[in-house]
Amino acid sequence: METFDAIIVGAGFAGSVCARQMAQEHGLRVLVIDRRPHIAGNAHDALDAHGILCHTYGPHIFHTNAALVTNFLSRFTNWRPYEHRVVAEVDGRFVPVPINRTTVQALHSVELADESDVIAHLDALAEPRANLRNSEDAVVAKVGRDLYERLFRGYTRKQWALDPSELHASVCARIPVRTNDDDRYFTDKFQQMPADGYTAMFERMLDHPNIEVRVGTAYQDACGSVTAPQLVWTGPIDAFFHYRFGRLPYRSLRFEYETRATPGGRLAQPVASVNYPNERIGYTRVTEFRHLTGQVADSSTLAYEFSVSDGEPYYPIPQAQNRELFHRYEALAKSRPDVLFVGRLARYQYLNMDQVVAGALVAVDRWAQVRQSAPQLLRAA
Ligand code: FAD
Ligand code: UDP
Repeated sequence: METFDAIIVGAGFAGSVCARQMAQEHGLRVLVIDRRPHIAGNAHDALDAHGILCHTYGPHIFHTNAALVTNFLSRFTNWRPYEHRVVAEVDGRFVPVPINRTTVQALHSVELADESDVIAHLDALAEPRANLRNSEDAVVAKVGRDLYERLFRGYTRKQWALDPSELHASVCARIPVRTNDDDRYFTDKFQQMPADGYTAMFERMLDHPNIEVRVGTAYQDACGSVTAPQLVWTGPIDAFFHYRFGRLPYRSLRFEYETRATPGGRLAQPVASVNYPNERIGYTRVTEFRHLTGQVADSSTLAYEFSVSDGEPYYPIPQAQNRELFHRYEALAKSRPDVLFVGRLARYQYLNMDQVVAGALVAVDRWAQVRQSAPQLLRAA
């Protein structure tokens, strides 16, 4: 049996941040394993057969307001400024998403001179709701039924195989409504991409004498031959407990790729992602990676995103009954002080990358405090 100070399951943001902190700040000998054949988790990127840098698990745009997160990640990467822009194809034309002044003018064929005009226009359409019980309420209460149906209903039904009325309000509330001309997808202070890509950033994060990485290794296969007093679990929480209370559901994705000739380094799409809310179109969005990476090349690769029920666990499904099931697993997790549950799958939460990094930094800090003041509390029962 090989012994380490900590075993970390998952080499994505959650696992890799914990590994670096435990190894460097606390001197632990750490083993990181991932069942997939690469590091970086869902943020993994790699060159395709045409030499174009693509995101393996869908477009990942880095944005944050947390200096804690950028300070930490900047130790492992330089950055390239990038502000994400998205348009939706509605009735044969492209309009900005999130909804802004341009979107409203185009879809309602009106002239809105300034922000107060846009506010008045949307106020007249909005259907106020006392409680925002679901994602339909969240949108209709702000912009009314027409914009909801043309921009949100079909996209959400394709993405989640659920009507917005069946999904927690927070899902569609991720998309703000703007009354000005700002056509950026995010408004965070820091919007930059890792200059050499995500995988290169993870390689540097995991490059430490106290860290050993084994990919293509599932925990269930490795746990008979490696041991450690501390485990960090960043896989699905229900899998850790052998699905004792049943499975937490996930939405998955399937990608179809297309590489187009783009002589002179031009780009195929006007912006990085084009959303397709129309339910007659099978895919939800098409992303052209060179917009995100800034790579200059005579060809360009686009990913068509299809939402599916089976496959890699991508999106926890934000519904009340799933949250309740998660809470049952969370209660079990409290009985395992020797295990830290960190990240999107272990917390069963729709978290962005920066939130996962912040969560991992905080989790290791808390663990370190307990380890120092009351180490007996971290021992398995
Ligand atoms: P993961 O990256 O999923 O890592 C968990 C790892 O654990 C996986 O690599 C898995 O293989 C491994 N694992 C699981 N079980 C086992 C086991 N039994 N044994 C060994 N290994 C195991 N966030 C943003 O901020 N901006 C974006 O633009 C953005 N776009 C996204 C687009 C898509 C399509 C998706 C799905 C997510 C997006 N996100 C985005 C969210 C982002 O991917 C996550 O916040 C982040 O990757 C979560 O990191 P994690 O370490 O928690 O999980
Ligand atoms: N959404 C939509 N229409 C759009 C964009 C988003 O209905 O044009 C909804 C959809 O339900 C989606 C959610 O808003 O799942 C959050 O969108 P986001 O772009 O944040 O999704 P992600 O990038 O995480 O897939």
